[in-house]
Amino acid sequence: MTVLRLAVASPLRRSFDYLPPLGTTATELHSLQPGQRLLVPFGSREVTAYLLSLEQNSEMDLAALKNALEILDPEPLLDPGMMGLGLWAADYYQHAVGEVLSVLYPRTLRHGKPHQPLGEPAWQLSQRGKGLPAGALARSPRQSQALHMLQQQQTVTTGEFLAQDISSPILNKLREKALVEQCILAPSQAVPVCTGSLALNAQQETVMRSLLQAGGSFSCHLLEGVTGSGKTEIYLQLIADCLARGKQALVLIPEIGLTPQTLTRFQQRFGSGIALLHSGLSDSQRYKAWEGARTGNDRIIIGTRSAVFTPLQAPGLIIVDEEHDSSYKQQDGFRYSARDVAVKRAQLAACPVLLGSATPSLESIYNVQLGRYQLHQLTRRAGSSSLPTIQAVDVRRLELAAGLSQTVMQAIEQTLQAGQQALLFLNRRGYAPTMQCHDCGWIAECNACDARLTVHRRSRRLRCHHCGAARALPRQCPDCRGSSLLAAGLGTEQTEELLQQRFTDWPIYRVDSDTMQGRDAMQNLVNTINQGEPAILLGTQMLTKGHHFPGVSLVAIIDTDAMLFSTDFRGEERMAQLLTQVAGRAGRADLPGTVLLQTHYPDHPTLQALLSSSYAELARELLLRRQDTGMPPIGQLLLLRSDCRDAQLGEEFLRQLRQQTETELPRDCRVIGPLPSPMQRRAGKFRSQLLVTAPDRKRAQLAARLLVQRAQALPARGGLKWSIDVDPMDLF
Ligand code: ADP
Ligand code: ZN
Ligand code: ZN
Repeated sequence: MTVLRLAVASPLRRSFDYLPPLGTTATELHSLQPGQRLLVPFGSREVTAYLLSLEQNSEMDLAALKNALEILDPEPLLDPGMMGLGLWAADYYQHAVGEVLSVLYPRTLRHGKPHQPLGEPAWQLSQRGKGLPAGALARSPRQSQALHMLQQQQTVTTGEFLAQDISSPILNKLREKALVEQCILAPSQAVPVCTGSLALNAQQETVMRSLLQAGGSFSCHLLEGVTGSGKTEIYLQLIADCLARGKQALVLIPEIGLTPQTLTRFQQRFGSGIALLHSGLSDSQRYKAWEGARTGNDRIIIGTRSAVFTPLQAPGLIIVDEEHDSSYKQQDGFRYSARDVAVKRAQLAACPVLLGSATPSLESIYNVQLGRYQLHQLTRRAGSSSLPTIQAVDVRRLELAAGLSQTVMQAIEQTLQAGQQALLFLNRRGYAPTMQCHDCGWIAECNACDARLTVHRRSRRLRCHHCGAARALPRQCPDCRGSSLLAAGLGTEQTEELLQQRFTDWPIYRVDSDTMQGRDAMQNLVNTINQGEPAILLGTQMLTKGHHFPGVSLVAIIDTDAMLFSTDFRGEERMAQLLTQVAGRAGRADLPGTVLLQTHYPDHPTLQALLSSSYAELARELLLRRQDTGMPPIGQLLLLRSDCRDAQLGEEFLRQLRQQTETELPRDCRVIGPLPSPMQRRAGKFRSQLLVTAPDRKRAQLAARLLVQRAQALPARGGLKWSIDVDPMDLF
């Protein structure tokens, strides 16, 4: 007996066996292929399932198996490559396969709706209708008119009929007589026309030549080019080449709403033949873009993270812009990295993949060193602007008003007086606060680890997130006995208030995720700012994404130290990326720009390196340091989290998991924890975590499978939920 092995969108990490729908013929059964959607009874519901394989037997009692209700697609909508990508991702990220496969489909199809080809509903003559002479049906003038139109132009859309006052009752009468039938008018293919390519400069020319040499087969490339060096121009010309080869190009960008300028450039270059995929689309818009990409009607697909799973009819090139950006990593549910999936996808589709950034991740730089990626560099700006100079402002013992030093206040004042713009960077998320002495710069560190302690305000304690050590918040600096202890990384709201009081004559624009909802909001604000009137820009991470502000001549980073002393092992890498990206937003040729970094640690080696050399050099130094610690990309990380209303139950679960797996983990894997997560309490639940390090990918994968297998078998009491994060970006 043939059994259908199916994936169902459910958090259960297993497949489900069903019998074919009643009445399925042998021919139908044998033509079934992996990826086909079916409708099945699941508990008390009817849900969409995806065929994994046909089996001749089941571990379940055959008599207990239910029949599937319906085969939804006569043939799979996804090609074997896409199915392969889904199965790979489910295995690599240890996520339930049904949930992963459902990400490959737009919501309507996920919910079991029939697949609808794109195009306009239209009518055509049936075989019988074609036999009618001109002027037939004269006794019903309206029907006769409809017939006449169909005889003239073969297919007539519903809209064209309506324009002639011919509505559906008339057409339905003709259909009842079997004279006409409905059809779908395929949309005309939007062929992108490439106009306005720039003549490449010598550096770009070299890069372009070596990229083209790589040809149309699988290869990975890292384009490391300083901000404004003309990376986007390279993307555009590579896409033109890809289209000329008759292939489609997929471009991933961090957040569409935040990068209207980039998007406009693509549209200016290629016209309308671009499908956009981002979170702001309605279901039907999303379906249209998905189907357009799948059928090859759309040739260029630009999208955010999840667009990496868009099916393509003829994939020819994948580009990941700002590849270092942490928004490529999904932080909940199916925790994949779109950048890493893109590389796997290119491999399965046998096409080149290009990762681009002014500040590449250490992962990608390491892959270059291992010979997996080819490196291409652009070291100079392409346009007329020049890179700004960076200076440290030593704020030790200086009076700070809401975090701002006099030096920075004066610089802002001067900038505004000179009719220019100042950008203040406020760092708002992703950094756990550390404790520091304002007088001497002492910082609270763990006695047992090479790690900073994190301030936990609620419990008034300092904690180490590496070994779990805890102690009370000190009242005095142990080094200088001073009493001005600060929790770095807090208090940005006051900064805004103070600026409003001090600079009443100039507008202050705030750019963060609260004020910038939607694509137009950002575009409008960027337009206003770029009219160039003097103003203060207050921004968060959001400001660093792809915008250019030619009127800005001063950039001030208020809380450099919070980044410098992040408890996250990626802290310094992130800081270097952020500073470089923020600095890169400013200035033009006649307004070169200054970047001021407020810090208690002007001599910190990472700051010094940034001041005296470049991101490129610093990144390679930081990578050397990772060699010592074994942290990614040298080693691999897994994070097991538990969320539970009862903190103790959560930790107990992880403790048991640790006990049950420790002796079986692959050689040289290490387990740290359970520890409370740095941001322990979320929405009334307590989060604890187990961190597992592995020396390489293979062992990390073995460890991940073992942990998931054992975690599934453990009783989860008190509504406990656990999850695994493979290659976590944030360790909380
Ligand atoms: P990136 O993507 O590296 O930040 P862009 O491609 O946006 O750089 O280029 C920065 C600026 O330089 C843009 O205004 C762009 O139009 C201009 N530019 C890029 N390449 C050239 C070129 N070959 N000749 C003239 N201007 C260029
Ligand atoms: Zn001190
Ligand atoms: Zn410690």
